[in-house]
Amino acid sequence: MKTVLKVNNLSFTYNDSDKKALNNINLSVNKGEFFCIIGSNGSGKSTLCNILVGLIPHYISGQLEGDVFLGDLRLADSSMGEIVSKIGLVFQNPFNQLSYTASTVEEELAFGLGNLGIPREEMKRRIERVAKLMRIEEILHKSPLALSGGQVQRVALGSCIIMEPDIIVLDECTSQLDPLGSEEIFDIIKELNMSGITVILADHDMERVARTADRILVLDKGEQIALDTPEKIFSSVDTEKHKINMPDFTRIGFSLNEEKLYDGNIVVTEEAAISLVKEVLQ
Ligand code: ADP
Ligand code: MG
Repeated sequence: MKTVLKVNNLSFTYNDSDKKALNNINLSVNKGEFFCIIGSNGSGKSTLCNILVGLIPHYISGQLEGDVFLGDLRLADSSMGEIVSKIGLVFQNPFNQLSYTASTVEEELAFGLGNLGIPREEMKRRIERVAKLMRIEEILHKSPLALSGGQVQRVALGSCIIMEPDIIVLDECTSQLDPLGSEEIFDIIKELNMSGITVILADHDMERVARTADRILVLDKGEQIALDTPEKIFSSVDTEKHKINMPDFTRIGFSLNEEKLYDGNIVVTEEAAISLVKEVLQ
């Protein structure tokens, strides 16, 4: 398996803080992987996402120790220009993703492409494709400032993937959406992943993480608690000590376990939980 991203002994302290926001993180992400980051508020998810795409230390300063490698590229030695064509971030707050200079959504989508020197025809082609994928075709001529939170979230994701990065980092990117819109965006992210894009996703919806992630990183107060498969992470009672909610489906397995009705593997998906319950009831 090819490693596309590697983090070695990474620690970070914000300039105006005296405690580490991240302490000694070590991980590597494989090509095509769906890699999730979970942890309660303040555990360091956003800080890690910002470091992976170079915003820290290029735009937000502090004391950074350790290394991040994107393939052979050492982030600390690279310009943002080199980084953005390889890895893109969708911000936790989508309003922070807007350029505030574009007068239409179409211009907003084209904004990053202009800096890459992409020809006009190619730009048009990409805008059409992304608008269709994100289902924002009807708002292409609207002002980005006149959109709902959910629409801004779609535009924010669109302006990231239009750059065609190999890796996308998504920081709780469905916070502005209702459950239906949120599932829709999540399906698009899964589709992108199926098409070969490596996905790194910070999320708080444990059901979704459990059924989608290849591997999960658990953070608590900046510490790396665990890095493993959903089955391993959610079958460990320790996980709950770090303020992580177990998916409901997993809880079913645990309850049956406690009642001595079942002693097999812990289930993490709805389908598996349903067939387990059927089996036990027989
Ligand atoms: P999460 O995304 O998991 O909620 P964050 O990465 O935002 O966590 O925060 C990790 C820690 O760093 C928290 O203690 C938070 O208060 C602190 N922090 C985040 N952003 C800043 C900042 N710009 N300046 C100083 N401290 C910050
Ligand atoms: Mg955050």
